[in-house]
Amino acid sequence: MTKARRAMQEDLKLVDLVMELTDARAPLAGRNPDIDKLAAGKARMIFLNKADLADDQATLAWMDYFRKKGITPIRLDARKTNFKKAVVDGVKIACQEKIERDRPIRAMVVGIPNVGKSTFINSLAGKTAAKTGNKPGVTRGNQWIKIDKQLELLDTPGILWPKFDDEAIGMKLACVGSISDEVLNMQEIAYHLLSYGKANYNQLFEARYGAVPQPDDERDNEIVLWMENIARQRGCLKRGAETDFDKVSAQITDDFRSGRIGKVSLEVPEQA
Ligand code: GDP
Repeated sequence: MTKARRAMQEDLKLVDLVMELTDARAPLAGRNPDIDKLAAGKARMIFLNKADLADDQATLAWMDYFRKKGITPIRLDARKTNFKKAVVDGVKIACQEKIERDRPIRAMVVGIPNVGKSTFINSLAGKTAAKTGNKPGVTRGNQWIKIDKQLELLDTPGILWPKFDDEAIGMKLACVGSISDEVLNMQEIAYHLLSYGKANYNQLFEARYGAVPQPDDERDNEIVLWMENIARQRGCLKRGAETDFDKVSAQITDDFRSGRIGKVSLEVPEQA
């Protein structure tokens, strides 16, 4: 067991409620299924974060999906600071049995790297949030942040590692930027995004990149031709006007990650 995981297990003993963040564009790929075991017996909430980048229809369907599993869902753009009331209301639903206690509900945030945990904690805590000091049970300098009179949050999030033994999951995580780009093949990611986009969000992708070309020769691959067109439009060319596939791939991936193509989700609950 890794040190981070052990630390998280220690922290979990201190809390009533686990606030799990996942990526709204790929809510299942963005979770580590071990959390169900790790958080057994705790009240649960799930935050579909980066919902500003996700397909709203898909996000609504995911909220239904998690509600049916008994986990209170909230969609979120963690960079905003206007969601405290929604969170506190959600906590009341998630902790119905625990709310009668004579002390506030204690919660911790968990999720895979880059999903927005620090952003979420900072936005929720706000500038005025008082740390509640070193109470017994707070280890390693962790502190409770008082969010509300009924809610305290551990200031250090738990890090879960994504499980990408499945290639399809790995690709989704790569697309949303949860896997370090150094270990990835950008051309594969961009190729995947364009093929997926053509099949599922054709209008959005064609609005940004122009129509998918029809190959004259059936041996040609339309996605590769499309990439070549995009490279030409954007001047992603090497000497001799040869397509710079690395450069255009990086741009397509960045377009997707920053929402310039539009609101696109990579998973819908029917596949789950
Ligand atoms: P952590 O590793 O889970 O703590 O993730 P961070 O809080 O460091 O966030 C990773 C990146 O995602 C940062 O660039 C954030 O600005 C960005 N981010 C976090 N939440 C959101 C969100 O809801 N929407 C968008 N578009 N970006 C977000």
